[in-house]
Amino acid sequence: MKEFQCGSLVPGCQWHTRHEDEAEIIRRVAEHMRETHGETIIRETMIEAIRSRIEKVRNAA
Ligand SMILES: [Zn+2]
Repeated sequence: MKEFQCGSLVPGCQWHTRHEDEAEIIRRVAEHMRETHGETIIRETMIEAIRSRIEKVRNAA
């Protein structure tokens, strides 16, 4: 399982998402960036910033 915390990119944002697939996380984050942070254009540098902040998490369940 992998996790992305939006707060690591946008200080103060509590949104986060988890998924096995990194590509799915990036897709969800891009959607969140558009809807919540008004980023109409998701640049390659943004994708790289997201990817570098995705962390592996152990499934606690
Ligand atoms: Zn956010």
